[in-house]
Amino acid sequence: MPNAEIIAIGSELLTPFRSDTNSLWLTGELNALGITVRQKSIVGDDEQCLEESLRDALKRSPIIISTGGLGPTEDDITRKVFARVLKRPLVLHHDILDRIRHLFESRGMKMSSNNERQALIPRDAEPMTNHHGTAPGILIHEGDCLIAMLPGPPREMKPMFTSYVRPVLEPLAGNLRMRTRMLRVSGMGESQVDSLISPIYMRYNNPVTTILFNNTEVELHFTASAPTEGEAEKLLDEVCFKVEEALGENIFSHRGETLEEIIGLRLTVKGYTIATAESCTGGLIAKRLTDVPGSSKYFLEGVVAYSNEAKTRLLDVPEALIAEHGAVSPEVAEAMAVGIKERSGATFGVSVTGIAGPDGGTEEKPVGLVYVGLASDFHVKHRKFILPGDRERIRFLTSQAALDLVRRNYLL
Ligand code: AMP
Ligand code: MG
Repeated sequence: MPNAEIIAIGSELLTPFRSDTNSLWLTGELNALGITVRQKSIVGDDEQCLEESLRDALKRSPIIISTGGLGPTEDDITRKVFARVLKRPLVLHHDILDRIRHLFESRGMKMSSNNERQALIPRDAEPMTNHHGTAPGILIHEGDCLIAMLPGPPREMKPMFTSYVRPVLEPLAGNLRMRTRMLRVSGMGESQVDSLISPIYMRYNNPVTTILFNNTEVELHFTASAPTEGEAEKLLDEVCFKVEEALGENIFSHRGETLEEIIGLRLTVKGYTIATAESCTGGLIAKRLTDVPGSSKYFLEGVVAYSNEAKTRLLDVPEALIAEHGAVSPEVAEAMAVGIKERSGATFGVSVTGIAGPDGGTEEKPVGLVYVGLASDFHVKHRKFILPGDRERIRFLTSQAALDLVRRNYLL
């Protein structure tokens, strides 16, 4: 299998504020072609460091893909450094310059002279048109080595890779194709999942299985390689089928979809609608449900009823009920769920009330105590959770618990 190497260029990637997501995406694409990523580096906007990285990469990798540093400013050095290392002078491409100038004019702006740099392409290199921005990419065949320079912004980088680089890599790719699949599990811990499924996946070394704990869910990653994508899929089917059988409805996602996407899909198929009444999550459940495109088909409304008075005014929770049991109680959770269901006319109402901390906990009602309420035409119920972590984590776990409860109760 041929090896590839990725160089992510940009000083911002060496700060705590930005992470290099381009190489993750590129690695997935390369793996799918049967190409292994052997090394990746993150290099700041520093000519000497980049030069050293490229020289090292040329010694060991037949495929080198860089992202970033193709912009028009002084700190965008990719073009210049690659040209120098590869001993290819930069040549001005008038057609590219015209295209960039045109792009600015079409937005009613004047091109600044900086942008002229983006029309400089190393000799005998192939420019790749950027359909989502100004900086063209650059493709170079250097002996047996293929070098692709892609822009930094993911929305420019991805389509350029797909249109220009992938077709060049396909014939170089190994004779094995890799396919991956992700199953996601809720309501179970990593070790619990592993003890159920390790007797299954240990019997196979293709696919390779990885179990990851991701914040609130367990993710199962399977990677299979075979001469064709179809055969790789078959290998995945075999193991995944057995794993699905072992974990049953704890698996909520069979192709990597998020919990809110799955809920959206099932609500749509069944023609149901939903509305939310939230206290401690401050609208997070509604936010997650409406993150999904097309959610207007099933999400009717969400109320953030933080104060007791709001719970009464917006959700018809009786004042006396709150006085008797407290706002964080099974009775109030259920009343909130009924209230939002009745007021919105949705098929289901879901509510949460809890103590996210760091203050407000008591011995009887500790931080992390959360009640989720559910209401449909047929029943009203609640579940109690005691969730770990800081405020942010408790809030996220609460939203996950509520969404998963909706799925398990109404959408299997
Ligand atoms: P550049 O092409 O260096 O001007 O990059 C422009 C922008 O692209 C940067 O400010 C980042 O927001 C984004 N970017 C650059 N490199 C990466 C990367 N490796 N992963 C994700 N985003 C990136
Ligand atoms: Mg940059």
